[in-house]
Amino acid sequence: MLSIMGQSAAIAHLQRVIAAGRMAATWIFSGPPGVGKYRTAIALARTCLCENPRHARNQQANGLLNPALEPDFDMILACDQCESCRAIDHDAHPDLHLIYRNLIRCHDRSGKSKGTTLSIDVIRGEITGDDSEEHRVEPKLYKRSQHGRGKWFIIDEADLMEPPAQNALLKALEEPPPQSFLVMIATSPAELLATIRSRSQWVSFRSLPPAVLVPQFVQRGLTQSQAKLLARLSDGSLGRAVRWLSLQEPVRPVEDEHASPCSPPALGIGSRRREAAEKQPAIFECIERISLAMDNLATGRAGAMVLVDAVRAYAEQYARMALREDPLSSKDRAVRDGAAILLGFVAAWLDDRLRYAIGSPIEAPLPSTQQALPPAAMVQCLDLCQTAQRQVDMNAHVGLLLAATATELEVEIRRCRS
Ligand SMILES: [Zn+2]
Repeated sequence: MLSIMGQSAAIAHLQRVIAAGRMAATWIFSGPPGVGKYRTAIALARTCLCENPRHARNQQANGLLNPALEPDFDMILACDQCESCRAIDHDAHPDLHLIYRNLIRCHDRSGKSKGTTLSIDVIRGEITGDDSEEHRVEPKLYKRSQHGRGKWFIIDEADLMEPPAQNALLKALEEPPPQSFLVMIATSPAELLATIRSRSQWVSFRSLPPAVLVPQFVQRGLTQSQAKLLARLSDGSLGRAVRWLSLQEPVRPVEDEHASPCSPPALGIGSRRREAAEKQPAIFECIERISLAMDNLATGRAGAMVLVDAVRAYAEQYARMALREDPLSSKDRAVRDGAAILLGFVAAWLDDRLRYAIGSPIEAPLPSTQQALPPAAMVQCLDLCQTAQRQVDMNAHVGLLLAATATELEVEIRRCRS
């Protein structure tokens, strides 16, 4: 539990609950993605299932004081040695059940699910069971704890539970069996039924500050300025940034100028830049390319379609990477996720223009010209970007949405420059 960084308030809350012996049966861990919610849930279960938990004063626990607890607070931590701790480290503890949407592969009755949501079949198969005639499934929730220290169920991305899945779970939560504990991990807890939310204890997790993230990235071989930029663009999410850094596929070669009538106008990425790009994670080339497309859009050197092409190319690349990791996942979903990330980079470029205009310092600017643009127009453009991010996350046609958004951005930016 001590290895979880930047979440001292959440850890302090859980430590107080453990110390008081008042562990609630149902929890919601809410907060941005990739900030340690899932790891904390596993650490909590590991501590409670440990055969020989150890005590440590806050100030002596690992040399780092948790500022949200008194210096002499008696922390209770997993021993890391016992059979239970070791079983959890090897994903093999019979009383710890990890539930995630891809488990649909084990429970899919239609054989067609891509696991984009958390299906009722997964909830039945992994937690509540099913007593229907044709598909009788034993409820894991009501089985005896094998090690006698309770049973833990951790649902990742619980906010992706379909309504029937939530209803099935709700019935189980109304009368939970003794010594069974459920943690729901959620970035959008509002998607959970009000009746589930009101039955749960909440722990909020926050975005990780640059002071926590930057050293992590530097350890992974990034320069200080790359690390700062990544901390900014990932919105304080270590998980998100690490995923971006794993984007290792060779990037699409930049076409030579006038190579084909369909190729985008020259973006100014010459061979020197290409050489530099080979030495850095692909995500930074992607950031550079988007920045440059925006620079060119603003100066009139290129049109909206260059931006659309850049966003689409990298969104497709992101999707290919996601499919390599999980070949059965949805390509459409992955392209949407990729497009939303890239729209975030466009938003950061707009935010930089706004800050240059009002003279607000930028801790980690995008690699682009330091051009100021009128704040009112930039606010308008940021609105366009946010709307597009929301729509791409839903069912909008990605190509059309990107084209429409880029064109609107072009019109708005050109208008404020004329
Ligand atoms: Zn232990």
